[in-house]
Amino acid sequence: MPSIEDSNLAPCTWHTPESEICILVVDDQPENLLSIKTAIKDSDYVLVTASSGAEAVEKAQKYEFAAILLDIQMPHLNGYEIAKLIRQSENSRVIPIIFITAFFNEEKHIQEASKIGAVDYLFKPINVDILRAKLELFAELFRKTKEIQYHTQIQHRRETDERDRQILKIKESTEQKYQDLVEGITNGIVWLADPNSLNFTFVSPHAENILGYKISDWYSDQNFLFSHISAEDHHAFRLALQNAKESGDDVEIEHRIVRSDGCILWFKTNIRLRESSKGNEFRGLSVDVTNLKETEKSLRESIHARDEFLSVASHELKTPLTPLQLQVEAFERLFSQNKLVTAPRDKLSRMLKTSVTQVDILVRLIDQLLDISRVSSGVLQLVITKTDLVQCIHNVTSLFEDELKKQNIILEINTPISLVGCWDKVRIEQVLVNLIQNAMKYGKQKPIVITLKSTPHEKVLLVVSDFGIGIAERDRSRIFERYERAVPKSSFSGLGLGLYISKQLVELHGGRIWVESTPEECSSFFVELPLN
Ligand code: ADP
Repeated sequence: MPSIEDSNLAPCTWHTPESEICILVVDDQPENLLSIKTAIKDSDYVLVTASSGAEAVEKAQKYEFAAILLDIQMPHLNGYEIAKLIRQSENSRVIPIIFITAFFNEEKHIQEASKIGAVDYLFKPINVDILRAKLELFAELFRKTKEIQYHTQIQHRRETDERDRQILKIKESTEQKYQDLVEGITNGIVWLADPNSLNFTFVSPHAENILGYKISDWYSDQNFLFSHISAEDHHAFRLALQNAKESGDDVEIEHRIVRSDGCILWFKTNIRLRESSKGNEFRGLSVDVTNLKETEKSLRESIHARDEFLSVASHELKTPLTPLQLQVEAFERLFSQNKLVTAPRDKLSRMLKTSVTQVDILVRLIDQLLDISRVSSGVLQLVITKTDLVQCIHNVTSLFEDELKKQNIILEINTPISLVGCWDKVRIEQVLVNLIQNAMKYGKQKPIVITLKSTPHEKVLLVVSDFGIGIAERDRSRIFERYERAVPKSSFSGLGLGLYISKQLVELHGGRIWVESTPEECSSFFVELPLN
């Protein structure tokens, strides 16, 4: 039997199947303790002794016992009272108690014992065999119970470890997914900040690409946000932060941030206040919407230009209609009064000429509109034939002969005898009409010069020059765009489409068109075409 030294025992916490079996013997008589010790001396039990009720209760709570041998006749507290106290403690509640008594009053003992839930009795003088048999029974019970507990604990520990591993795995994979997600947002900045100090605790890596500031600047500059948000948006941004803080709702705001190179970018920022392990924090997502804003702006400008164009176009279409209507009404009057035959020929001819001119203007305007829709839908096609450009120039200028004469405009033409190449004759004449018409419209009735020559690399150069209002430098490229004009619409009629269509036609031929000008002095429109 091992030593009875208490100090060698481990407190009752964790039992392995190999742990020793301890028995608590409670008796105030040393000779009784000795007799029990002697009775089980060759067994493996560890005997722990207590000579008072208080000591027994204390030890029963502190250590794990397979059984308690408790003498009923104890001073101060009797065995039953000690047993009751032992039962009150969680640690010792289920330890089997074997009462030892010198006499047995069956009824009294049974009553007392049943109150405590005691398990057994031994009578003095103790029968060694019975004692050993009983202890063996409880020791076996204890061993089995501990074995089950041990395996249950092992199983429980395995399950807990496995669950912890799974949780860790899920946490790691969630964090990885979150990180991938955050890093995948290339046009937005995910950030976390303290709601009071606005110090950043996290800023997604793409912030550096988007705004050009080092991520470390975001963390170190206590006032990073307001140092870089445009001053005009400070007030609205502060309100948004306050709103997010007070309402707990998502708050969205559009604002500008100055990039490190000074460029201003537009952001749509969503802010929400959320609880984190470290307390409340702002979670923000600032998406770069600069392109969207620019598209929005140009869309608004296009809509404005379209509306403007519609009003100009209606006005332009209406202008020739009024004189045309007057002429048709005059014809109708002559016809109804049977004066059509007797009316003077020159009067009729003037009326007809005016009508034809107005119809021509209408046709030209409608052709321009049709060309615009052809260009937009990409169906404008060339019909290429062998064409003499000199002939084209004469064809077109003959159309303007009367008008030039009427306005007293001198037309100078410098061309070789002929210059033949492969072009779409109709479309080249259309370009010429537009350039000559513009020279007449904007040329202050001063001379117009048309020059045609071939240039190196199989190209030809056509130049239409006038000495009128000229074109300011800033307008020289935009006048070739759709609806673009550089004159007030109250002073000059026009749709702002002629040069745009001319440019499309020249480029379809593989050529280019440009203008050189000195405002209030002269303008020269150059058309360069490949010969073939
Ligand atoms: P429109 O003449 O109907 O306005 P165009 O596309 O032919 O349309 O010309 C676009 C603009 O270019 C004109 O409104 C005018 O401001 C400018 N422009 C064209 N030709 C000349 C020119 N010869 N001299 C001065 N300005 C010109």
